[in-house]
Amino acid sequence: MTPKEDTTAAIAAVINTPKSLDQLRTTQEIERKAAIGRIVTYTLGSLTSTYVNEGFQWLLPVILSQSTDPLWPDPNASIEKRIELDIYGKPVRTMTSMIVHKLIGASTVYPKLFTLAPNIRIERADRGKTGKHIYEFTQLDFEAQGATSKDIFTLVEKALCTLVKNLKKDLKDDLKAINRIDAIPTLEAPFKILDCADLKTKYGDTWEEEIIAKITQPTWITNIPRAFYDFEDFNTGKWDNYDLFMPQYGEVLSGAKREYEHDKIIKKLERDGVRKENYAIIIQMAKEGRLKPTAGAGLGVERVIGYITGVKHIAECQPFPRIPGIVHEL
Ligand code: AMP
Ligand code: MG
Repeated sequence: MTPKEDTTAAIAAVINTPKSLDQLRTTQEIERKAAIGRIVTYTLGSLTSTYVNEGFQWLLPVILSQSTDPLWPDPNASIEKRIELDIYGKPVRTMTSMIVHKLIGASTVYPKLFTLAPNIRIERADRGKTGKHIYEFTQLDFEAQGATSKDIFTLVEKALCTLVKNLKKDLKDDLKAINRIDAIPTLEAPFKILDCADLKTKYGDTWEEEIIAKITQPTWITNIPRAFYDFEDFNTGKWDNYDLFMPQYGEVLSGAKREYEHDKIIKKLERDGVRKENYAIIIQMAKEGRLKPTAGAGLGVERVIGYITGVKHIAECQPFPRIPGIVHEL
């Protein structure tokens, strides 16, 4: 074996137990982490460039707010605890997503916007085992005024196809070092679209696992009943929303065309038992006709990198892992 192959094999042999940077001791562990780190840098550069080139404004995120994502109802929600604190005599929460701020941003000053938003979700500790959940993660969260679902599909397809194509060329050595160069297929747009209701009829409750195992290219899943801000056609009962699933991996993005009409929003908040006082600005803006039709999505950055790197746990892509149920000092 040449020295290069030797190192490659050794890196690949490292067991993927996510460790904090201070816990990495062997050269192999450090080199593997460094290779993943370069993939993270490349991924962030590539994704953000696509959005900037497509005319999106890059907003810096907020961390504490009175209003954040209810994450409810959502078939996949598993929040153990919501973090609320008082500042300056007001109750605020840590952000679970920037959905509320995005809707207001895209309706007012920034018709096309994105942000790299840190989200804190204290997932149930048993989600530590999925390999796909961390309790602090980042969404590339974006929203566009007047956009349709199709517009969002085209944009995301462009961002991901460009990323994978260039990454395979520019970071070939790092992908080889972690045995991923042949594992990731070149992505082909447009991605296939499947209806969630049809999948439930066909496969029942295990539809997600069935689809993840079957698909060989990224696939859109549409029409998923969930939170009030996703557009629901009250006549047909269909939701104009979507998730993106990666083959052998699963969900990396959720998004939707949004509700913007006052009466509909109120009806849905009441139906779902979501507290209206937490969404007073959205409600007021909708009442004044200042909430505009938008569409967007949140792409889980660590999930995309998890798919690319093939790590057993996405926390391995974090310098300081945030595994549900495990709290490191750093
Ligand atoms: P959601 O709107 O809740 O689906 O969140 C948007 C995206 O963020 C998801 O599609 C995932 O890619 C990512 N995401 C959500 N929760 C987590 C988590 N606990 N850990 C890592 N990524 C997550
Ligand atoms: Mg989701």
